[in-house]
Amino acid sequence: MRWILLILFTLGSMTAQAENTVINNTTVLTMDNDKTLSGATVVIVDDRITYAGPAADAPIPRSVDNVIGGTGKFLMPGLAEMHGHLPSSGWSRERQERILFLYLAGGVTTVRGMLGDPVQFELRKEISAGTMDGPVLYLAAPSMNGNSVSSPADGRAKIRRYAAQGWDLQKIHPGLTRAEYDAIADEANKLNFPFGGHVPADVGIERALEAGQISIDHMDGYLQMVDGDKREMTDDDFAKMIEITKRSGSWVVPTHELFNVLIGGGDVAALSVRPENRYLTSDALASYQRRAANANASANALAVKNRNRLLKVLADAEVNLALGSDAPQLFSVPGFSIWREIQSMQAAGLTAAQILKSGTSAPGRYFADKDKFGTISVGSRADLILLNDNPYENIEAVFDQTGVVAAGKWYSRADIDTRLDAIAADVAR
Ligand SMILES: [Zn+2]
Repeated sequence: MRWILLILFTLGSMTAQAENTVINNTTVLTMDNDKTLSGATVVIVDDRITYAGPAADAPIPRSVDNVIGGTGKFLMPGLAEMHGHLPSSGWSRERQERILFLYLAGGVTTVRGMLGDPVQFELRKEISAGTMDGPVLYLAAPSMNGNSVSSPADGRAKIRRYAAQGWDLQKIHPGLTRAEYDAIADEANKLNFPFGGHVPADVGIERALEAGQISIDHMDGYLQMVDGDKREMTDDDFAKMIEITKRSGSWVVPTHELFNVLIGGGDVAALSVRPENRYLTSDALASYQRRAANANASANALAVKNRNRLLKVLADAEVNLALGSDAPQLFSVPGFSIWREIQSMQAAGLTAAQILKSGTSAPGRYFADKDKFGTISVGSRADLILLNDNPYENIEAVFDQTGVVAAGKWYSRADIDTRLDAIAADVAR
């Protein structure tokens, strides 16, 4: 009897957060293609989209928790941060909640965490049980780098251990030798365990792509392939980069804005007055200001120009491109740094459709074996942003949000603003 009650209790608590939402008469960016559906109703039951289409045919559930008026508004899938950082062991509960909520507050409903810490498994469980607000998390294992891997055999052993522990991929950092990298790649491929991140200098981009590295983060390795920090890259360089990237099927996660600052230096005064800095502690802000000032001392405008052109040609060639900002890293407040990343992609010449796809349907394709999300279609996870304007016409419409739905849970603008004010007050204490 006792364990039956326990099961009932567990089922009850698992579904305690379930809610049904109907969004009426809105314009839907399905992200299945570049078209929009106007005058559409979207029905959300628990964490799934069960309908998106004409109001007349909408199957309205018997009990609806939220009825949202969508007239004049635009509904798009939530954004993915494909290179994000997540809380580590030893953080206070308050700090964990803060960073996870900031992602949601910016419309980020999925994060590929790129530096593993075991506490993240607990946070992922709490988010899916509804005891903590946050995006859906996919987790890279603890980093493999020149310090954490001592030999090819050690690399293989760690790959086996991390794959067995249930991480979603292996994070690669600089410093691995070619022999260590090859052993890691071989073992990971045998286990069907993806590995991605940086490209170690001893490996190079061509080998990384050939070895099956799932993502090249920061566009690492491309400039190094042709001394692109010292000379202007040519059309032939770009053609070769497109060819090897497309052949591999690997993903590129540019983290473009971060590298604009790291490589190009930044206007520290302008960076320092960004409105989202109100969610940073004064210590974090001071350390960012020091790092940006240091970056200024070695600014390389040529490398920035090459990276801008590279990003544009990769997007135009339709390589697998996924939105990522490397928050929180350097003036990159979780959730809001995705907006800065979007602006930097636009400045590099990407179209609104290219940018939107990189943050929605493309990450959905990347994680297709885990879940269905990133499009507004029946069966997709209900991760949505309701906007006041059409982002196809002006990409910055993405930053003007009426509300966010994260795995079926509705957060209104007022809810989000109240929590953001509380966060700003907390960090100022
Ligand atoms: Zn990172």
